[in-house]
Amino acid sequence: MGEFDLIRRFFQRPAAAGVEVGVGDDCAVLVPTPGARWLVSSDMLVEGRHFLSTVDPARLGHKALAVNLSDLAACGATPRGFTLALALPRADEAWLTGFAQGLWALADASGIPLVGGDTTQGPLNLCITVFGEAPPGQALLRSGAKVGDEIWVSGRLGDARLALEVFRGRVALAGEAFEQVRAAMERPMPRLALGQALRGVATAALDISDGLLGDLGHVLTASRVGATLELAALPRSEVLAAQPPALQQECLLAGGDDYELVFTAPPGARLPDVGVPLTRIGRIEAEPGLRVVDARGEPVAHGLRSFDHFQS
Ligand code: ADP
Ligand code: MG
Repeated sequence: MGEFDLIRRFFQRPAAAGVEVGVGDDCAVLVPTPGARWLVSSDMLVEGRHFLSTVDPARLGHKALAVNLSDLAACGATPRGFTLALALPRADEAWLTGFAQGLWALADASGIPLVGGDTTQGPLNLCITVFGEAPPGQALLRSGAKVGDEIWVSGRLGDARLALEVFRGRVALAGEAFEQVRAAMERPMPRLALGQALRGVATAALDISDGLLGDLGHVLTASRVGATLELAALPRSEVLAAQPPALQQECLLAGGDDYELVFTAPPGARLPDVGVPLTRIGRIEAEPGLRVVDARGEPVAHGLRSFDHFQS
C-alpha cells in the first residue's frame, strides 16, 4: 500500500457540509459562518510519551481526536474541521483499520469532518489540528474569572491517573474496576455540548489535561486572582474513592488526562443541563495563589504539581 492509497483508503471521504474542498488538494477550502470567529488548536501525541505502544489502535484514534476536541470544548467552540498529520513506522493495514475506526467514530459523533493532513514514514507520532467557531466575543477564555465566582468541574477527576499508576505497577486493580479507569485514560469524552452551553454563562474555562492544580493555576494567572479549592468536594469514582487518601489526592489534584472542563461562574448563574454532572469545587478570591482546604476548612499540605514535559 502506497502513501496515496493509504490516504484514500483510510482518510478520504466525500466533502462534508461547510467544506468546499476536503482531502485531495493542496489546501482544504472551508466556508466560515458569516461573522463567526475561528478557534484553532493543535495537540500532538507521541508514542512512549502520551501513549503506550500496546494501546488498542481504535482507542488511540479516538484519543488523538478527543484531546483536540477537548480544547474546542474548553473555549465553547463549535467544531468545523480537523487535519491529521501522521508519522507511521509502516503501513500496517490492521493497525490503520483500527485507528481510522476510532477516529471516524468520534469525528462523526462530534460532527467534525477531516479536511486534510500529511502522511509520512517515521516513529509513530500523531498531530491533529482542530478548527472551530464561536460568535464574536463569546469564546470562553482563561482570563475572565472574577473575585467571588464559584469554581465548577464537569464529570469526575483522577481515574485516568489511577489507570496510569496501574500500568506503572504502583497500584493493583483488576476486572471491572480496572476497565473503568482504563477507559477514562484511553477513551476520554470531550465536553463539547457543555462548552457550547457555557457561552455567556462561564466567566472563564479550560480543560484539565495536565492536572487540576496546574490547569486551574493557568486560569488564576490569566485572570489575576486566587482561589480556594475544597478537596472533599472533588468528584471521584467509587474506584478512586476506595484508594488510600494520599493516592486519591494525587490523582484528583495532579492527575493529568482528565479532559473535564473547569469553569468559573458568578454565584446563582443558571448552569446548563447537558447530562454531564457539574460539581462546585471552590471559589475565586482576591488573595493570589491556590489554597486547598479539607472538609473543615483547614489547609491541606500536598506538595503536588501538575505535569510538565520538561520538569519531570
Ligand atoms: P502535498 O504534498 O501537496 O502537501 P500531500 O501529498 O501531503 O499533499 O497530501 C495529499 C492530500 O491528502 C492533501 O489534500 C492532504 O491534505 C491529504 N492528506 C495527507 N495525509 C492525510 C491524512 N493523514 N489525513 C487526511 N488527509 C491527508
Ligand atoms: Mg503535504
